[in-house]
Amino acid sequence: MKVLVIGTGAREHALCRSLSQDPAVSELHCAPGNAGIARVAALHPVDQLDGAAVTALARELGADLVVVGPEAPLVAGVAEPLRAAGIPVFGPGKEAAQLEGSKAFAKDVMAAAGVPTARSYVCTTPEEAAAALDAFGAPYVVKDDGLAAGKGVVVTEDRVAALEHAAACERVVIEEYLDGPEVSLFAITDGTTVLPLVPAQDFKRALDGDRGPNTGGMGAYSPLPWAPEGLVAEVLESVLQPTVDELRHRGTPFSGLLYAGLALTSRGTRVIEFNARFGDPETQVVLARLRTPLAGVLLAAADGTLGELEPLRWSEEAAVTVVMASEGYPASPRTGDPIEGLDAAEADGASVLHAGTRSGPAGEVLTAGGRVLSVTAVGADLAEARAKAYAGVAEISFKGAQHRTDIAAAAAAGQQLP
Ligand code: AMP
Repeated sequence: MKVLVIGTGAREHALCRSLSQDPAVSELHCAPGNAGIARVAALHPVDQLDGAAVTALARELGADLVVVGPEAPLVAGVAEPLRAAGIPVFGPGKEAAQLEGSKAFAKDVMAAAGVPTARSYVCTTPEEAAAALDAFGAPYVVKDDGLAAGKGVVVTEDRVAALEHAAACERVVIEEYLDGPEVSLFAITDGTTVLPLVPAQDFKRALDGDRGPNTGGMGAYSPLPWAPEGLVAEVLESVLQPTVDELRHRGTPFSGLLYAGLALTSRGTRVIEFNARFGDPETQVVLARLRTPLAGVLLAAADGTLGELEPLRWSEEAAVTVVMASEGYPASPRTGDPIEGLDAAEADGASVLHAGTRSGPAGEVLTAGGRVLSVTAVGADLAEARAKAYAGVAEISFKGAQHRTDIAAAAAAGQQLP
């Protein structure tokens, strides 16, 4: 099987690494990719948002499967011309990708499908926003309706800051605050059959102790020893299957990866958000535990035969990933600095997945984005995986590098609901 992966981040590096280990994959390509992905896949320059260009590349390569990693190309409708050309594609079409592309659309689908989520108002004027904030009270949750790379959400006690964020966005969803720990649960679907993966937890805030601004994600781990038994089955029944069924009934079936961001509140499990693609950085830990070769699973989702697949096999091991970010991330990341110690980190047993990197003129690896690396390790338990991931982080240096020091700490220490 010849596979083409679209994207540039650590999620795509994780996907490419798993695909490169699948004996069914004879050729692996990535566009545009990054310096780390170049070690396992042939890179091709492409405008990810240009469906015609992506389709032309897939044709030229004779790709048997195209895997679209990030949300922006999916929401831009890159899957459509690929499907029209008869090329199997892992990822939803434009309409179904609105589940991530518009928070208001996601709320509408959830209401129609009876999926539990926070009560909310869609607001377009300062007056509406103010009324919605006062209806729910503090803490205030204000979400940009459109895509914002994980940075469109403000959760604050400060009413003025909440109003300012609302004013800065064209259309916002203001919703009730959900307490309780968060879980990310991914499911692979062909539009009918839904196959949940193992749950993970990510760390959205920039700083230790969940302080600082929201980011794309600073680390993740799996499994969740504290999660209630039966959680996956419950979410499949109350969230994932009804959502997939609702989109199919609307005539816009969702195939690809459905990501449910969940809050386990005192009043039950609630959806915080949906994403229409593998989450980053959770993918790095979820795929580290997947034993079933990946390509066949993604192809079955693309061609509608997921129901015929054997159950997925998982490692009992734990996985932890720690994101190393640039100075200034998330507001204004600095880029262009050389990265040292990548080989030493891998020699220590960590797997270094590249996010924002590029190759320099002399073959050196340079920082090229906010999130730079995702240092991942597996171990017999979370404590061991965590120790190995942080040992890898300690080997790596670049100017102004920052990372959280508390990824998976509470869970590894056996605390109940971190
Ligand atoms: P989202 O982009 O919707 O996942 O939001 C980013 C982060 O903001 C989530 O991971 C939560 O930590 C937080 N958040 C979003 N919605 C809520 C809510 N209704 N109540 C509490 N926290 C929330």
